[in-house]
Amino acid sequence: MNEPIPDTKPSIRILDDATVHLIAAGEVVDRPVSIVKELVENSIDAGSSRITVDVSANRGEISRIRIVDDGKGIPPEEIPLAFIAHATSKIRSSDDLETCLTLGFRGEALASIAAVSYVTLVTSTSPSRPATRYRVTGGEVVECSETGAPPGTSITVEEIFYNTPARRKFLKSLHTELAHISAVVESFACLYPHITFRYLVNSQEKFSTHGGSSLPDIFRALHPDEAGSMIPVSRDEGDIRLSGLVSLPGLVKQNRQQILIGVNGRIVQSPAITSAIKRAYGSLVPSASWPVSVLMLTLPPAMVDANIHPTKREVRFSAEKKILDLIVRIVRDSLAGADIIGCAPDGGRSDQAELPERTGYAGTGRIPYQSPVSTARKVCETALSGYRTTSRQLLQTRIQDIPESQPDERFPAMYWIGQVGGTYIIAGGDDGSLYLIDQHAAHERVRYEQVKNQESLHLKTQELIAPVVLNLTPSEVTLLSSVLQVIEEEGFILEPFGQDTWCVRGVPVILGRYEDPETIREIISSILSGDEAPVRLKEQVLRLVACRSAVKAGAVLTPEQGMDIITQLSRTLDPWTCPHGRPTVIGFPAPDLARMFRRT
Ligand code: ADP
Ligand code: MG
Repeated sequence: MNEPIPDTKPSIRILDDATVHLIAAGEVVDRPVSIVKELVENSIDAGSSRITVDVSANRGEISRIRIVDDGKGIPPEEIPLAFIAHATSKIRSSDDLETCLTLGFRGEALASIAAVSYVTLVTSTSPSRPATRYRVTGGEVVECSETGAPPGTSITVEEIFYNTPARRKFLKSLHTELAHISAVVESFACLYPHITFRYLVNSQEKFSTHGGSSLPDIFRALHPDEAGSMIPVSRDEGDIRLSGLVSLPGLVKQNRQQILIGVNGRIVQSPAITSAIKRAYGSLVPSASWPVSVLMLTLPPAMVDANIHPTKREVRFSAEKKILDLIVRIVRDSLAGADIIGCAPDGGRSDQAELPERTGYAGTGRIPYQSPVSTARKVCETALSGYRTTSRQLLQTRIQDIPESQPDERFPAMYWIGQVGGTYIIAGGDDGSLYLIDQHAAHERVRYEQVKNQESLHLKTQELIAPVVLNLTPSEVTLLSSVLQVIEEEGFILEPFGQDTWCVRGVPVILGRYEDPETIREIISSILSGDEAPVRLKEQVLRLVACRSAVKAGAVLTPEQGMDIITQLSRTLDPWTCPHGRPTVIGFPAPDLARMFRRT
């Protein structure tokens, strides 16, 4: 047999400059939102007091991004330099990194953006000098002319990723990209309350903030429903400063997306800081839930390294443990100083009145004034309304009972003994065994099987007696359109009700016509805060409906209610775990009890 002839052409080659440049550019601008982030950072670095982000979409894609600022502008003779990779006005050498206070320093953004799209820059440094218009398309300068424009800079980016079709193909849906952009602009607005931000999509204003506001004002404008559950954090410790807002334990999310962390004015993703915040709450929030927070950490630049990744999204600290411990301590102290009783599920939202009026938000949904109620009355009302909620949930479950289901014969007969911690049912078995049942997990299992069963019966929707109005943030509105179909397939009926406002007219049968508006809001907002793929989304909706419609941990049960849960659980196909896999029942068989007391 003949040996194959070896290929004599060299297999390792040095890439040409254009290819190297394109690969590097791809790291900085991996998706449209990165362009927005880089350009807004440049506008902030230029000392702007007004920044407008204007995005246009066409045929399911982002067709144009324009950022306009009133900053110091770029002198005409320096414009060509600004587009060259690693050209920056912000540092001179690596030594400056230690003291650098600007967001940019790598000199890569404009060069990278121009490498993957068509860019038009109009900039002016003073009202007495003409502005310059400069266009780069396909890597070539095609225009450099004088024009009239106010001081500041406007950068228009079109034909995004025109020369990297693979990148373009992998972009998520338009809704997802727009939601990311909206979230980034919201984040900058929170981190820079003194700057006026405007965000427009297809020339329509989605939101704007008034420069000169405080963080609570801005937060209230962006998240009117949540502002009342936020408490301030503010502390200086040596040269480290932590400030911002964190939520009372009553306001949590199923994921970390509503944790915004700013380090020296930079939006960062820091799993370490996120878990420090979570750690501060300890057992105040369930293990799979995260509080809402906007926290800004300011520290000497020498203590933080932002130069880990081209996008500067991650940072490293030189004294990480000290900083993380400090965050835990400060957040914990802030929580300790707050009135936590005020955040009980139904009574808590009334402290919204203490925050200032919302400002500059082109939405609807002014929060009505609610007079403060005494703590004692609040607690009492909470307990009563908790009892009513539990009764309604159990009644609803019984109405929907699965007709032909038989009790699982492995499920022991039990009688009610009592309840401990408002959370566990204590039950006895005829054979002298003792059982502890997690009331929420148990009822969640019942609800879950009912929701699934309802699927096959094609019994989907029930109209609400009173429609529930949702005031959404701009990014939630955007996300809603992308998940609407799945939500509707599961039985919700949602209709637009004016700008940023939607109205829920129908819910899955399982929730019932009288469902508490707060539960419905919670379900929708949990769906909107997840970034689930469509297949998983359906399962997520099922689980959420099951979870939120189930009797809560902390609800005091009457013996009848407790027995109801036990009986319903015994009829499920899989009574031993909740839909998330946690146990529902823990048994102490009689012989074990005897052994524990050394009777045998
Ligand atoms: P970097 O921000 O890391 O310096 P960029 O490529 O983002 O790099 O920008 C290059 C240079 O262009 C900046 O250093 C700055 O001098 C100038 N520049 C960019 N955008 C603006 C703007 N909006 N206003 C004023 N100058 C700008
Ligand atoms: Mg920059």
